[in-house]
Amino acid sequence: MKKIVLATGNAGKVKEFATLLADFPIQVSPQSEFNVPEAIEDGLTFVENAIIKARNAAKATGLPAIADDSGIEVDALNGKPGIYSARFAGEPSNAENNWRKLLIEMEGKADRSARFQCVLVFMRHSEDPTPIICQASWEGEILDHARGEQGHGYDPVFQVRGDTRSAAEMDADTKNRLSHRGKAMKLLLDAMKEQGII
Ligand code: IMP
Repeated sequence: MKKIVLATGNAGKVKEFATLLADFPIQVSPQSEFNVPEAIEDGLTFVENAIIKARNAAKATGLPAIADDSGIEVDALNGKPGIYSARFAGEPSNAENNWRKLLIEMEGKADRSARFQCVLVFMRHSEDPTPIICQASWEGEILDHARGEQGHGYDPVFQVRGDTRSAAEMDADTKNRLSHRGKAMKLLLDAMKEQGII
């Protein structure tokens, strides 16, 4: 079993990762188990922020690390909230305040198109000069009211393109198969296998 620290404190993401990695010889532990200090996410891209988080967790634990940086991009808002998705309605981060603010900003907008973005980074150690970086997205539209009780974050206001359900109306397996994070995780696992890491 390869031990890897998961550089996120987001309980929703931890749950998704645990399911996505269940069939692999990897033991992932969230960084909260090691009291990893919070990283300062001052990058201007998902890629930079994911590297910052992975490096921070690898440095604090001495373990290889996987980090996720993700968010939702809304076309009518010129890509907002993007890398600021977690703090859209201010600090401390609150999922319901964030999606309520998004619904307000989208009032009256005809173009509702949006996508979730996910960048995953694997770092062998904190000074790894060639982290593995994988990216995937998930297309949809912003609803005009929240629907569904499952998932996390902006899921209740995200209508999945080509489906009748919002992301919060999907069971975990379906979401993991279709989502930005599920697709990026598959790319990452393929790359880790190819490089003999797992
Ligand atoms: P991060 O933890 O700094 O990467 O922030 C990610 C932000 O995007 C959080 O506000 C999440 O709720 C949101 N987000 C990322 N992935 C998802 C998802 O799968 N569903 C809903 N919201 C998501």
